[in-house]
Amino acid sequence: MKVGFLSLGCKVNYYETEKMKLQFEQAGYKVVAFEEAADVYIINTCTVTNVADRKSRKMLHRARRNNPGAIVAAAGCYADSVKKKSESNKSFGWKETDAELANYVDLFVSNADKDNLVEKVEAVRKERERAKAVLPDSKSEKEKCEGTEQALKKKHTRAYVKVQDGCNQYCTYCIIPYVRGPLKSRAVEEVVQEVTGLAKKGVREVVMTGIHLSSYGVDFTDKKSFTDLEGKPLLGLLTAVAEVEGITRIRLGSLEPRIITEEFVKTLCKISKVCPHFHLSLQSGCDETLRRMNRHYTTEEYLECVRILRKYFKSPAITTDIIAGFPQETQKEFERTCEFVKEVSFSQIHVFKYSRRQGTLADAMEGQVAEQVKTERSSALLSIEKELEEKYQQTLYGKVEAVLFEELVQIQEEEYLVGYNERYVRIAVKAAGISDAEKCCNTIGTVRITGRLTGEILSGEMEV
Ligand code: SF4
Repeated sequence: MKVGFLSLGCKVNYYETEKMKLQFEQAGYKVVAFEEAADVYIINTCTVTNVADRKSRKMLHRARRNNPGAIVAAAGCYADSVKKKSESNKSFGWKETDAELANYVDLFVSNADKDNLVEKVEAVRKERERAKAVLPDSKSEKEKCEGTEQALKKKHTRAYVKVQDGCNQYCTYCIIPYVRGPLKSRAVEEVVQEVTGLAKKGVREVVMTGIHLSSYGVDFTDKKSFTDLEGKPLLGLLTAVAEVEGITRIRLGSLEPRIITEEFVKTLCKISKVCPHFHLSLQSGCDETLRRMNRHYTTEEYLECVRILRKYFKSPAITTDIIAGFPQETQKEFERTCEFVKEVSFSQIHVFKYSRRQGTLADAMEGQVAEQVKTERSSALLSIEKELEEKYQQTLYGKVEAVLFEELVQIQEEEYLVGYNERYVRIAVKAAGISDAEKCCNTIGTVRITGRLTGEILSGEMEV
């Protein structure tokens, strides 16, 4: 039995997809590329914007086209929201486009049920077989074992590790708390055990991810063990993960500005494996808009967080998300955001056009911004983003960076060894001249940055 996966949206989804792959491999399935003909397709969907919904539907459609006889399962947030809508008798935000899904999706799996996906797929498969009066699958034990071995042989340089799920923040634009539910953190020991397993498989870098990572551990009933760590369980977790042998880098997923205090960062910078790369969620550079979004910080407080990070980490990469065209955003408010992002000088910005999510407070707000205006604002932000990114990358020219090589890539008809530095800038070194370049994958090399190779990739030379 072959199964193809596709993950859309956030890093938590990517993490959960990897977990699902493992479950299927352990159950004897062979994981194949999504484009290949498979018996089962799992699409881990996203619903953060209308675009994400559309893409989820498109990919579910594509899976059906890849093999009309396959079992197509929709997992993740979009699937969850569609499932909830259908269970509420289509009375809440059910759209025709959602209803049409039933024509080509066999299974909707909520986030809470992702761990039981194999059984759910098996149930559909058996039901079909019964209907067709066909003998059950006769896969041999040997074939099942081969599937497992293949998974163990796979080597990854970087792995996402989900440390918490859910969110209690209820930003007015966001549907995620409704589909992911309240905050749930995983125990430190459980995460360490998983990271240890990943390190044994050769993973060198772990990315701590969560829906609201800054809230990690606030749901723990016993926080005594974290009193020396500014009362922040996240610091306790990072300290424990840093002790795992074989892991050389720890990267943090999106952080909320309010976690960044002088005390927190003072402790954080002592955990030497933590990369100087911080994704500090902003959403708007205008205080009035932030209030309407129910974000609990001001631009002044945000600037202070950036100052603290730059005080304790050397040239950190600070990246963020911005929403263009939030309800009632005036041209003046938007211009304030543009000025603010320049003031912070982000190294990268993810720009999103505001997307109405049924059931959220922002959806019911008056003063929705016209689509055309959202598009113009988003384009304006994207061109600022391009300038800022280049400006940040130019600060690396001539510097020597530690690059964790991940893969050999053909670029402009030449082979390059490509990886990331600690600040998550992609860097390539010509493979010719490096003896056994393939062996350098998953090792850290010292590279002098020479300039830009392509739009996003910097070029460098190995230092001996
Ligand atoms: S913090 Fe806000 S934007 Fe992030 S998941 Fe929670 S509600 Fe959504």
